[in-house]
Amino acid sequence: MTHSLSDFQDKIQAFPRVDLIHLPTPIQKLENLSKELGGPDIYMKRDDLTGLAFGGNKSRKLEFIIHDVLEKGADVIITWASLQSNWCLQTAAAARKFGITPILVLFKTYELPEEYDGNLLLDFILKADIKIREAEVGKVVKQEDVDEILEEVVFEVKEWGHTPYVAPIGGSMVSCSMDKPLGAISYALAYAEMLEQTESMGFQPDYIVHATGSGGTQAGLAVGAKALTPNTQILGISVSEDKETFSQDVFTIAQDTLKALDVDIALNKEEDIHVLDEYLGEGYGIITKDVSDAIRQVSVKEGIFLDPVYTGKAMTALFDLVNNGTIKKGDKVVFFHTGGTAALFPYKHKLTSFLE
Ligand SMILES: *Cc1c(COP(=O)(O)O)cnc(C)c1O
Repeated sequence: MTHSLSDFQDKIQAFPRVDLIHLPTPIQKLENLSKELGGPDIYMKRDDLTGLAFGGNKSRKLEFIIHDVLEKGADVIITWASLQSNWCLQTAAAARKFGITPILVLFKTYELPEEYDGNLLLDFILKADIKIREAEVGKVVKQEDVDEILEEVVFEVKEWGHTPYVAPIGGSMVSCSMDKPLGAISYALAYAEMLEQTESMGFQPDYIVHATGSGGTQAGLAVGAKALTPNTQILGISVSEDKETFSQDVFTIAQDTLKALDVDIALNKEEDIHVLDEYLGEGYGIITKDVSDAIRQVSVKEGIFLDPVYTGKAMTALFDLVNNGTIKKGDKVVFFHTGGTAALFPYKHKLTSFLE
């Protein structure tokens, strides 16, 4: 059963959140790129323009998560991810705005210099408490590596007499201090926001293409699509894990989201959760020639910058899906630009060597 847009929005609006970003984010047709590819009409949902600390999908999630932090009486937020993490930067910026102290555990999952550049520079300017740790290159951070240090940091914060809130990586999986899938809930609402925009432009999308990392974005979009426009396919382009691992993560988060929203629909893992892992390249955070070319092509055609870790990879996937005929002429595609552009700078050597 499909739901009406306004009922669905009302259900989500019932979840409290703080005011952190500019909504709705713009949506625009990529005229030049659509023409160049000669296939579908390609639109871009500009979630890189949320307006908090260089923008991105994590700031949508943080409107709900920061409210949860305040409601739980915490004054310190602890989270973790990779050295150049967009999530950690956005968390630190959002925390600062609400007088919460950010502690970031950053893992060296790529061969980038440990210098203040890109998001790490912004973390430093924000006076985040930064703890850098070793990790396996090209992989997402493993939970075993995280648990021990989190326990130490939580202990220290309590010793100082403060109250910590541990936010799960990417704000996606129900875990740590977050007992509802707040990140995915924000993306179910983002789906409704996008649909209002496309409907006023006279269409419903056939495909949504976006980068998938910790799974919350895809889970939210999948719930939104299933409830509102079940013929729209959500294609999550994995940036780090195999299809099986991510499909299960996204499915779990999506189920939790349906429960939290009390929306009466059933999701099927095989039919509703599409994760593509063919575009991983050499692994998480490792930029390739293809990704560099996609970043350049979108900048040259549209004056828009993608990022090296997520949206650049997702765009290589979109190009391929058009070239191989999966997405056809006449189809309408919305590409979610989920942000991350501050990470272009620490990739300067690799980018220039691929593009020279
Ligand atoms: C985190 C991130 C994603 C992936 O979102 P998830 O909800 O973690 O799957 C995509 N793009 C950018 C730029 C990100 O920072």
